[in-house]
This record gives sequence, structure tokens and C-alpha cells, in this order.
Amino acid sequence: MAYLFNHRHFYEGLKEGKLLGLVCKSCGKYTVPAKICCAECGSTEIEAVQLSGKGKIKTYTVIRVAPEGFTPPYILAMVELEEGPWLMGNVEGCGTELSDAELIEKNVILGHKVHPPAVYSAGEVVSIAFFLE
Ligand SMILES: [Zn+2]
Repeated sequence: MAYLFNHRHFYEGLKEGKLLGLVCKSCGKYTVPAKICCAECGSTEIEAVQLSGKGKIKTYTVIRVAPEGFTPPYILAMVELEEGPWLMGNVEGCGTELSDAELIEKNVILGHKVHPPAVYSAGEVVSIAFFLE
């Protein structure tokens, strides 16, 4: 069984504003980022699709100690996509001095951010970013 697409394809799509994932022909659920099978039922009857990139913040934290190439503080969130799966990414466009649950259930739209090459990367790094709607 071959991957329909790999992480390079995923991040190239992200740079073009596309959120690429899988939809399962057996159960109808979505998987993102792509895996070799459906994350819900394990079926390999899957096809590549473009997801909406829209979702709601379900939980988040403020990163104050960042890896090389990232500037702290920033917000790292788990977002429930419209299609169902949860995806982790940084929240851009708002400050980090927030009340405890200020961003919970806020609508976001997917974007991306390009970081310069770092010590442990093979080139530029593309990260998942979410912007408040
Ligand atoms: Zn499935």
C-alpha cells in the first residue's frame, strides 16, 4: 500500500492555501494530516481531498519556550475542523495575554507560516497557522 501523498505534498499544499487530507470510502470520516489509512476505522479505501480549512478552537496553550525558528510567546491550539478531525497549529493575529478560556470555540481559518531553515530542518519550515475569523 502506497501513501496517496506524503508530508512534503501536505506542506506544499499548505503553502498554496490548500488543506489536504483523506476521506474514507468505508466510513466517510476525514483524516488530516494524511496517514496510510483512515484514522477512524483503519480502512485503506481512502481518497485524497481538500478540506475547508475552517474550524473552531477547542483548546490551546501559550508557548513561552520555543524551538529554534519560532519566536515566543505564541499560541498553540487544537482546532476541530468543519469536517471533524482535530488539527494542531499556531494561532496568529492575537496577543498571548488572554483570560483562561477566551479563545475556546472561536472560529478560525487555516493559513500557514514559513520559517527560515533551522538546525534540525532540511530547509525552510512551513507551519500550520490559524487566523481568527
Ligand atoms: Zn474509515
